[in-house]
This record gives sequence, C-alpha cells and structure tokens, in this order.
Amino acid sequence: MARRILVTGGAGYIGSHTVLQLLLAEFTVSVVDNLDNASEAAIDRVTELAGKHGKNLTFHKIDLRDRDELKKLFASTKFDAVVHFAGLKAVGESVQKPMLYYNNNITGTVVLLETMAEHGCKKLVFSSSATVYGWPKEVPCTEEFPLCATNPYGRTKLFIEEICRDIYKSDSDWNMILLRYFNPVGAHPSGKIGEDPCGIPNNLMPFVQQVAVGRRPALTVFGNDYKTKDGTGVRDYIHVVDLAEGHIAALKKIFEGSSGGCEVYNLGTGKGTSVLEMVKAFEKASGKKIPLVMAERRPGDSETVYSSTKKAEKELKWKAKYGIEEMCRDQWNWASKNPWGYGKPDSVQ
Ligand code: NAD
Ligand code: UDP
Repeated sequence: MARRILVTGGAGYIGSHTVLQLLLAEFTVSVVDNLDNASEAAIDRVTELAGKHGKNLTFHKIDLRDRDELKKLFASTKFDAVVHFAGLKAVGESVQKPMLYYNNNITGTVVLLETMAEHGCKKLVFSSSATVYGWPKEVPCTEEFPLCATNPYGRTKLFIEEICRDIYKSDSDWNMILLRYFNPVGAHPSGKIGEDPCGIPNNLMPFVQQVAVGRRPALTVFGNDYKTKDGTGVRDYIHVVDLAEGHIAALKKIFEGSSGGCEVYNLGTGKGTSVLEMVKAFEKASGKKIPLVMAERRPGDSETVYSSTKKAEKELKWKAKYGIEEMCRDQWNWASKNPWGYGKPDSVQ
C-alpha cells in the first residue's frame, strides 16, 4: 500500500512542488492549507501535472489552528508522516505583527504536533530556514553552527526547532527531520506552477520576476557596500525542484530508520551568488533588462550566507542538481506564461 503523507501548506510555493514530486514518487498525499498565501489553482495544476498519479491527491481547506477540523481529518485518515510547510514567512510583516506570527506559526505547529501524537503519527519533516544562522561568522554554514534569530519570523523557526528537539527528548518514538532551506527560487520546468506571492514580494527573485513582466518599474538593490565580490549580498540559491526532492530524501530516511530521531539538515547548493550575479543570470535567461536602483542595506540582512552540503549528501544521499542558469530559465518560463501568477490583474496588487 502506498504511504500516505499529510502536507501542510501544500498549496504554497515549496509545498506545491513537493506535493508533485511526492505524487510522482507514488506517495498518496493529503494537503491541508488555509489558502492564506496560496491559490487552490495550484492544487489543480499539480493534479494535472501528476497525470495518472493525480487521483492520489486530496485537498482540505483547513487552518492548522482549527483543532477540531484537524482532529476530524486525522480521525478519518491514517497518515504515515507529515511534511509541515504551513506558516507565514514575511520577515518585515513579522516585525510589524509579531503576535500574528507567533500565533500562526507556533500555535499552528503545536496544534499539529499534539494532534499527530494523539493519533500515533510521530514522523515529521519540518521547513526550517537558513535564517537560524543569522549573520554567520564564517561560511559555509554547517548544521552545528550557533543559532540565532534577528526577527519574529526567524524566532518562530528557532522555537519550533527547539520544540521538536524537546518532544524527541521526551519521547524517542518520534522521528523528525528539520530541513534548513537556503534560498529557494525557480519553478517547475513545465511553467505550470511557481511562486505567486501576495502583495509586494519581499524576496529577491519574485521581485525581479515582477520587474521583468512589467508589474514593477525597477529592482531596489539593498546595499552595494558589503565586503563581497561586487558589494551586494551573497546567498545560496536553490532550485525549488531540488528542494522538493530533498523532502523525498528526508522521508525515505525516516521510513528506513528503525529508531526515532531528531536530525537537522541544510538544503542548499553550497555555492554563493551575489544579487548582481543573479540579476545578470535572469536578464540572460529572459532577454529582459532589469532596471536597478541602489539603496541602503536592508536592516537585519546578512552579508554572505551559503550552505555546507556535506551532511545532507552523506546521510540523505541528496545533492542539488541545478545551477542558477536553470533556476532563472524556469523562473522566467513560469513568469512569462503566468505574469499575474495564479490570479487575474484585478485580484493582485
Ligand atoms: P508559502 O507562503 O508559499 O506557503 C505556505 C503555505 O502555508 C501557504 O499556502 C499558506 O496559505 C499556508 N498556511 C499558512 N498558515 C497556515 C495555517 N495556519 N493553516 C494552514 N495553512 C497555512 O511559502 P513557501 O515559500 O512555500 O514556504 C513554505 C515553508 O518554508 C514556510 O514554513 C517557510 O517559512 C519555509 N521557508 C521558506 C523559504 C523561502 O524563501 N520561500 C525559506 C526558508 C524556509
Ligand atoms: N534583495 C535586494 N532587493 C530586494 C530583495 C532582496 O537587493 O528587493 C537582496 C537582499 O538584500 C539579499 C538578497 O537579495 O542580499 C536575497 O534576499 P531575500 O530576501 O530573497 O533572501 P534572504 O535575505 O532572506 O536570504
């Protein structure tokens, strides 16, 4: 019998790509999403892309904090594991509205973990972030680096990691993998699913993409006085399909394991790329000029962050395949086919 995975936040950017790879890997998938930052159209497109496996996907519009609805779902369906993406992720918004972030991300996760325990489902893959490394003293970042957080969003990731470690200490039946993502970009090569942020994008590539399709006049570059190759911030961009595959590798490890555990892995490429290099690669892929406005550094930003990939390569047997050319090619393919994402011009800002 195919294993059944509950994917929270599965209508979102990384979630939708992971759901597709799970279906193609012959898992049965239930998605829970409140559609706060996603469209049900993403689920329809994943179903279509999955072909004969599309029938193995079901969608439930549920807020994770709605304990009764979540309980009903767990009572009606036995899940072998949960992949937990659901959460709010805008750093600036988290500074303005910390309680929204603590309530949504932490309460949502606590309700999920309690419901899982009540129903004997103790296998979890959680979306953490490289943000827990803050401004690292050196690079590449290894999983043993000291952890910190500079904003409420980052603190929710840090707290949830700690919650998971505490749960495992108290009950070694749990098998948890915490994945620290570096900078996910790109889209499925079909151009049918991709990132469709609500409002003004916070992250670099969704912003670049909106400039390329004429939705925004120029990219503001936050700081060109860093001690980097060209003065702009350096990050480890990773193709979202590689990232999705990282979740399949994590689940395989969990299912192969004979005992519990709570392990953390970086998911990155191990390569650092500057803002200007990324813009150049996108201009090449799209044939579009991206006008730039140089500005001050963004508060809370780090200079250079990229990943050590050794632990994931060794223990998950996973390694990113794609480089920035493919990331930009696929991001442009999605953007040019869907300039307004899943929405219509009058429904988006
Ligand atoms: P996303 O906003 O596209 O997806 C998150 C999904 O969760 C959305 O579909 C949203 O509607 C849903 N959601 C939010 N709160 C919910 C709730 N209470 N109940 C049910 N559904 C809820 O974001 P994403 O980029 O796909 O990120 C997925 C996860 O990965 C998040 O936890 C995010 O913090 C983490 N992450 C993302 C990045 C990144 O750069 N995209 C980097 C590191 C970590
Ligand atoms: N960045 C930028 N302009 C933008 C958004 C981001 O110059 O409109 C820069 C940012 O300062 C950082 C890099 O792009 O150096 C990646 O930023 P993003 O927010 O995508 O990821 P994070 O900083 O969370 O790693």
